[in-house]
Amino acid sequence: MKKNQKIGSLALLLILIIGYPITAYAADPYALSGSESGSITVKSYSSHNDTWISYIDNGIKAWNGSTAPVEISISSPSNNSIQAARYDDSWYGLCTKSYDETTGYITKFAIQINARTIANAATSFSDFAESVIAHEFGHVFWLCDNPRTKLRTLMYQKRDRNVLKLPQTFDIDNVKAKYE
Ligand SMILES: [Zn+2]
Repeated sequence: MKKNQKIGSLALLLILIIGYPITAYAADPYALSGSESGSITVKSYSSHNDTWISYIDNGIKAWNGSTAPVEISISSPSNNSIQAARYDDSWYGLCTKSYDETTGYITKFAIQINARTIANAATSFSDFAESVIAHEFGHVFWLCDNPRTKLRTLMYQKRDRNVLKLPQTFDIDNVKAKYE
């Protein structure tokens, strides 16, 4: 190896070493922010019709009934909300998080579920809606979109939402690693 190549390799190695802690903070499969605790609350969504209430209930049960160490409960004084409506936006679901930039801990989240785009895309509306709802709660538990894995995951945006609507082993293991 010529001397200048050696210096080049050393410089690259230093960049990798120095750069690592910065990228590791929000490293795949995790997002920049998430709940400090696996126990979270969400405001009552009882203003929705019974059909939507059952979809939201099932999206929450997808996590509460899993082996992930999490519990989503309904609480009136909660800062956090979930709302289904016909939004003009192109997304199926959105999780907007306010968080502490040092710790990444969420101070507030708002999940929005788009009945309009779901109706346009779904072959099984209830399954599709529940997949979107469970996915958005995945973001509350730190999970990022499209993790680099070949394993099945609720967080993959190209999943078949008519079918894949529960947290998968990969997702549950990642949440366990945060809270256990
Ligand atoms: Zn997402």
